[in-house]
Amino acid sequence: MERKVVVVVAVSVAAVACGMAAAAVGWRVRKRREWKKAVRVVREVEEECETSVERLRQVVDAMAVEMHAGLASEGGSKLKMLLTHVHNLPNGSERGTYYALDLEGTYFRVLRVHLNGQQSAILEHEVELQTIPQHLLTSTSKDFFDFIASSLKEFVEKEDDSELSVARRKELGLTFSFPIKQISVCSGILITWTKGFSIVDMVGKDVPACLQEALVRKGLDLRVAALVNDTVGTLALGHYHDADTVAAIVIGTSTNACYLERTDAIIKCQGLLTTSRSMVVNMEWGNFWSSHLPRTSYDIDLNAESPNPNDQGFEKMISGMYLGDIVRRIILKMSLESDILGHISSKFSMPFILSTPMIAAMHEDDSPNLREVERILKDILEIPDVPLKVRKLMMKVCGIVTRRAARLAAAGIIGILKKIGRDGSGGITGGRRSDMKMRRTVVAIEGGLYSNYTLFREYLHEALHEILGEDIAKHVILKVTEDGSGIGTALLAASHSSNNVDRI
Ligand code: ADP
Ligand code: MG
Repeated sequence: MERKVVVVVAVSVAAVACGMAAAAVGWRVRKRREWKKAVRVVREVEEECETSVERLRQVVDAMAVEMHAGLASEGGSKLKMLLTHVHNLPNGSERGTYYALDLEGTYFRVLRVHLNGQQSAILEHEVELQTIPQHLLTSTSKDFFDFIASSLKEFVEKEDDSELSVARRKELGLTFSFPIKQISVCSGILITWTKGFSIVDMVGKDVPACLQEALVRKGLDLRVAALVNDTVGTLALGHYHDADTVAAIVIGTSTNACYLERTDAIIKCQGLLTTSRSMVVNMEWGNFWSSHLPRTSYDIDLNAESPNPNDQGFEKMISGMYLGDIVRRIILKMSLESDILGHISSKFSMPFILSTPMIAAMHEDDSPNLREVERILKDILEIPDVPLKVRKLMMKVCGIVTRRAARLAAAGIIGILKKIGRDGSGGITGGRRSDMKMRRTVVAIEGGLYSNYTLFREYLHEALHEILGEDIAKHVILKVTEDGSGIGTALLAASHSSNNVDRI
C-alpha cells in the first residue's frame, strides 16, 4: 500500500516536472517568436529608410531641379525660393556698433555688436532676453511694438559712449520668424501669424515700418536697416568670417536653408531693378518634396496627424521636431506586433512624448548595459524591466531614423551646391568633372540638432563624402556658426547700413 502511494507520488511529480519543462519550452518558443516579430518590424523600417548613395544622388538632383523650378516662377515648386533682397553680405570690413532684434516666438532678444573693421573680428557683443507678456500676443500692433520699442530704448541707452558708436546713426537688423512677403531688404508684409500670435491688425502690414513708427514714438533714433529670417543671419555670420561661404543651413527644431544665387538665374525676378550680381535666396527647404525620398508608413501617419499635412515634408523627415516622434511610432508598432515590451502604457500613444534629445541620449548611450536607454524607457515611456537585448533594438531604431535624416540633409546640401555649380559636376546643366576646377566652398551650419547630436553630425559628414567623393569633398567645408539669428542679423544691419558702402 505504502509503495503504491510512493509510486503515485513519483508519477505525479514526474508529470508536474514534465509539464513545467514543456511550459518552459513553450514559453521560450513563444518568446523567440515574439522577438522575431519585433526584429521584423525593425528590419522593415531599416529597408524602407535605406539611403544608398544612388538614392541620395537622386535626391541631390531633385533638390537642384526643384530649386530651378522655384526660381523660374512663383509657385513653380514646393520650394518657395523666396527673394530676400539681400545683396550685400558682410565681409569683415564693417565698422561701428549695430543692433539686432530677434523676434522668434514668445520671447525676443536684443543684441549689440561692436565691429572694428578688421576682418573677422567681432569686438564684443551683448544680449538680453525678454519674454513677451501673454496679453500682447493678441493685442494691437501699436501696443505690441510699443512694448518692444521701450525695451530696445532701455537697452540702447545702456550703451557706453565708445568711440566706435559716436557720430554714427544707430541701425538695427530684425530677425522675424513668421511668414512674410519681403519687398525690399528692409520691408516685408506679414502674411499670417503663427506660434500663438494673433495681432489681427498687423496682418498685411509692413513689419519693419510698424517697428520704425514705434521707435519714433519712443524718441529712439534707430533705423531698421534689414529684415531677415534666421537662416539668412547664419549666412551673413558665416560670410563675415569667411568670404567663401555660399550657403547656410539651420537644423534645429525646424530646418531651412538659404544661399547666394546669381541674379540672372532668378528668372522670376527679371525686371527687378538691381545692379547687383547676386542675391540671397531663402529656400524654405523644409517644404522640399521628391518621390525619391525614402518614405515609410510612419512618416505618412505622422504627416496625416500633423496640423499641416502635406507641408514641410522634408522637414518632417530631418528636423529635431520630428525625429523623436518617428522613433516613438516605430517602437509603438513593435509593441503592438509583439509582446517584447510587455504591457503598453498609455504614454506611448502620446505624440511627441519622446523628444529628439531623448533619442540622441539613447542612441549615444555608451554605458555597458545601456542604462540610459533603460532609464528613458522607464521614466518617459513607463516601460520598466526591458531586457538588454530589447534595449539594443531600441537603440538601433534611433540610429536608423537619425541616419536617414542626416544623410538626406547631406543630399540637400549637395543639391544646393549642384545648383550653383559647386559640387564638382558642372551644375545641373552637366559638364565633365575633369573640366571643373573645384573652388573652396563653405557652408555655414547651425542649430541644436546638428550641434548637439554627434552621431547625426557624423552621419551627415559621412554621406557628404560618399556622395561627392573624396577629391571634391575636401573642398567643401561645413562651418558651425553660433547665433546667426542674432549676431548675423546685426552684421546685416551693418552691411546694409547707410553709413557703410562696402559691397560683396
Ligand atoms: P530652434 O531650432 O528651436 O531655434 P535650436 O537651434 O537650439 O533652436 O535647436 C533646438 C532643437 O535641437 C531641439 O528642439 C531639438 O530638436 C534639437 N536638439 C537640441 N539638443 C539636442 C540633443 N542633445 N540631441 C539631439 N537633438 C537636440
Ligand atoms: Mg533658432
